[in-house]
Amino acid sequence: MYLKALEISGFKSFAKKAALNFTSPISSIVGPNGSGKSNVAEAFRFVLGEQSIKSMRGKRGEDLIFNGGGDGARVNRASVKVIFDNSKRMLNVDFDEVTLERVVHRDNSNEYFVNGSPVRLKDIVELLAGAHIGASGHHIISQGEADRILNANIRERREMIEDALGLKMYQYKKLESQRKLEKTEENMKSVESLRREIAPHLKFLKKQVEKVEKVQELREELRRLYKEYFKREEIYLDRETALISQEKSPLVAELQKLDKEITEARRVLENSKNRDAKSDELIAIESALHNIRTEKDAIMRELGKIEGEISAGQRAIAKEKEKQAKDEFKTVYLKDVEEVAKKIDVLETIAEIKQLLFGFISSHKNKSDSALIGEIEKDLVGHQKRKSEFEKSLGVFDGQEKAKTLEYNQLREKIEREKDSNRDAEKDVFRIIARQNEVRGVLNGIKTREDKLLFEEQAFKRETDEAYVLVGREIMEYKDFVVVNSADGLEQRSAQYDRQKTIEKIKIRIEDSGAGNSLDIMKEYKEVEERDAFLARELSDLETSKLGLHNLIADLDARIDVEFKEGILKINAQFQNYFSLMFGGGTAGLNVIREKRRKKKSDTDLSAVLSGDGEEVVEEEDGDEGIEINVNLPRKKVKGLMMLSGGERALTSIALLFAISQVNPPPFIILDETDAALDEANSRKYGDMIANLSEYSQLILITHNRETMSRAGVLYGVTMGSDGASKLLSIQFEEAVKVAK
Ligand code: ATP
Repeated sequence: MYLKALEISGFKSFAKKAALNFTSPISSIVGPNGSGKSNVAEAFRFVLGEQSIKSMRGKRGEDLIFNGGGDGARVNRASVKVIFDNSKRMLNVDFDEVTLERVVHRDNSNEYFVNGSPVRLKDIVELLAGAHIGASGHHIISQGEADRILNANIRERREMIEDALGLKMYQYKKLESQRKLEKTEENMKSVESLRREIAPHLKFLKKQVEKVEKVQELREELRRLYKEYFKREEIYLDRETALISQEKSPLVAELQKLDKEITEARRVLENSKNRDAKSDELIAIESALHNIRTEKDAIMRELGKIEGEISAGQRAIAKEKEKQAKDEFKTVYLKDVEEVAKKIDVLETIAEIKQLLFGFISSHKNKSDSALIGEIEKDLVGHQKRKSEFEKSLGVFDGQEKAKTLEYNQLREKIEREKDSNRDAEKDVFRIIARQNEVRGVLNGIKTREDKLLFEEQAFKRETDEAYVLVGREIMEYKDFVVVNSADGLEQRSAQYDRQKTIEKIKIRIEDSGAGNSLDIMKEYKEVEERDAFLARELSDLETSKLGLHNLIADLDARIDVEFKEGILKINAQFQNYFSLMFGGGTAGLNVIREKRRKKKSDTDLSAVLSGDGEEVVEEEDGDEGIEINVNLPRKKVKGLMMLSGGERALTSIALLFAISQVNPPPFIILDETDAALDEANSRKYGDMIANLSEYSQLILITHNRETMSRAGVLYGVTMGSDGASKLLSIQFEEAVKVAK
C-alpha cells in the first residue's frame, strides 16, 4: 500500500479541511448526488499536477477554490495534500513518507511542495512519472469516462495505452530529447552562421598572417644571415685593423729613424763646409811650429857654442891642474909658513912639531892654486849660467813644439776623418731618400687600405643600425655567433660580399611583402581564430550531442515500440480473460494498425486535370499508427463497438481498463462511478474483478453500487450541509448503503 492519505482544504466544495486515510486496499467514497464525491477524485488530479482546469470541471484556477455557498464563506486558497508511504522508494526521493502539496490562489498562481519544500511543477511531474502515476491519469477514471477509451480514435487510444504501460516516461524523455535536439539544431545553425560570418574575415586575416609569418621567416633568415655576416665583418675589420697597424708601425718608426738619419747626414754635410777653415788653421799651426823650430835651432846653436866654450875652459883647467898636480911646482905662501912657525912655538915635543909640519905639507900637497884656473872657472860659471838659461828656453820651445805638433796632428787627423764621414754622409743621404720614398710608397698603400677600412667600418656601423631597426636588438647577439666553417674565421672576402647580396635581396623581399602591423594582425587573427576554433568545438560538441540525442530518441522509439507491442500482447491476454469473464465467452483484442489517409492528388498533375473526367483524384498514404479494438460477443453475430448496448459498452471498457491496469499496475486506481451502468449480475462480476485488481493496485472507488461498497475495507461518506460545503466521515457498510441513497 502506497497511498496513505489525502487532505483537502478549500478545494471546490471542501471548504474546511477534510482528510481521507486509505488504510485498506479498497476504499469507497459514497454519498448523495452533488455531495462532492467527484471533487475528491479531482482533488487527486489537482495535487498530482493536472494542468487542465477543464478536466476538473472549471474554467479558471479560481473555480477550484471554495467559492462559498449557502451560509458558507468563500476562501482564498485551495490546498490538497497527498501522503505516500515511500518506504519502498516508489518515489525517487530518500524519504520513507512523501507528502505532495499543491496550492492554488485566487490570482491563479500555484505552489507545489514536496515534504513542505517548494518545488517546481516539473519536479512533481518527473517524480510521479517515475512511479507510474500522474495527473492525466490512466489510473483516475472520472465519472462517465469509463468508455472514453472506446470513443477515442486509434491514435488517442495508443497514447492512453502507452501512458498506462508506463511508456509516458519514455515519451517525456523523447519529447525532451526532441526539444533538446531542436534547440541543438538551432544552436548549430546560429553557430554555423556565426562561423560563416567570421569566415571571410578569418580568411583575410589568415592571408595577412601568412604574409606576416613569411616576413617573420624572412626576418629570421635575415637575422641569421646578419649574425654571421656581422661576426665575420667584425673579425675582418679587427684583423685588417691589426694587420695595418702591425704593418704600419714599424714603417712609421723607420720613417722617423730615417728622418733623424737624414738630418744627421745633412748636418755632417753641412759641417764639411768648415773644412777650409780647418786647413787654414792647420797652416797656421805649421807656421807656428816652423817658428818654434827656428827659435829652437838658434838656441841649439848658442848652446853648442856655450858647450864648446865650457869644454875648452874645462880642458884648460884640466891642463892647468895637471900641471899643478906635479909637487915641485907647488907654491906655499909665506904667511902660511909664518903661521906654522908660530904654531911650532908653542909646541913642546918634536912629535908635535912633526905632526904639525906633516899636516901642513899634506894640506898643501892637494891644494891647486892657480889664478888662471880661477879666471877660467870664473868664465865657466858665466857659461854655465847662460847655458842653463838657454836650456830653459829650449825646454819652453820644446814644450811648445810638442803641443803644436799634437795640435797639428789632431787637426790633420780630424780633417782626414771629416773627409771620410762626408763621403759616408753623402752615400747615406741617397740611401735614406731612396728608402724614405720606398717606405712612403708602402705607407701610401697602407693609407689607401686605411681609408678603405674606415669606409668599411662606417658601412658596418650603418648596417648594424639598420639591422637593429629591421630585426630588433637581438641582432647584437651576433657577437656570440660562432663562426664554424674555418678555424680562424678567415675566408675569401667575396664570400662576405655574397652574403651581403643575399641580405639585400631578403631586405627587398621584406619591403615588397607589404605586411602591415604584424603584432595587431597576429593578435586579431589569434582572437578570431580562437573564436572560430571555439565555435568549431562548440559545433562539434553540438554535433556530438545531436548524434547522442538522435541515438537516444531512436533508442527510446525502439524501446517504446518493443514495450508497446509486448504490452499489447499482455493486455490482449488480460482483455480476453476479463471480457469472457464479463460476457461468459466471446473474443476481444487490440490490434496495432496503421491508419490509411486519403489524400487529394496534387493539382500540378496536369494529365489528371486535363483528362477532364471531373472526378477528384485521390490516393492513400500511411497515417498514424494506432490501436483498433475488436470484440465478438458470444452468441451474437454483430461485430464492432458501434453495435454494443450501453451496458455492453461499459462492460467492454471495464474489461479493457482492468486488463490494462493489470499489465502494469499503478500504485493506486481511482474509479468514479465506473460501475454506474451495471446490472446486479454484472455488478457482482465487477466486484470480483475489483477484488482481483486490488491485489496489484490500491483502489478508491466512488460509487452508489451496493455490491462495490461491499468489497471496500474502508468507507467514507460525503455529505453537503446548508453551508454548501462537503463533509467527510468514516462510516460502516450499512450506513454507507443508506448514505449512498
Ligand atoms: P454525483 O453523485 O451526482 O456525481 P458528486 O457527489 O460527485 O455527485 P460533485 O460533482 O463532486 O458531486 O460535487 C459537485 C458539487 O460541488 C456541486 O454541488 C457544486 O456546487 C460544488 N462545487 C463545485 N465547485 C465548487 C466551488 N468552487 N465552491 C463551492 N462549491 C463547489
